[in-house]
Amino acid sequence: MAVVAVQCPDCGSREVVQYGQQPNGEQRYRCNNPHCQRRIFLLRYHDMGWEPAVKQQMVEMAVNGSGIRDTARVLGVSPTTVITTLKKKRRRFTG
Ligand SMILES: [Zn+2]
Repeated sequence: MAVVAVQCPDCGSREVVQYGQQPNGEQRYRCNNPHCQRRIFLLRYHDMGWEPAVKQQMVEMAVNGSGIRDTARVLGVSPTTVITTLKKKRRRFTG
């Protein structure tokens, strides 16, 4: 999973990963701290799809054979974002 530069609002851990989206498209995050009471939270920050760590994760998933829609769902970004990122990376991928 991609570790992104987000702090858990509950325990302050930076071991936070993207965890899909709300039905309204808001990004969800999951805290990886096993002692955290909260685990899933939202953040008002809409540009996470373009963080370098997320881009790298998109590329790695594509290289490992994940489809565009799978990658988008797992990382909580739009398929368009995945396609655009992969084209910029000029890596071969299957979708
Ligand atoms: Zn936490």
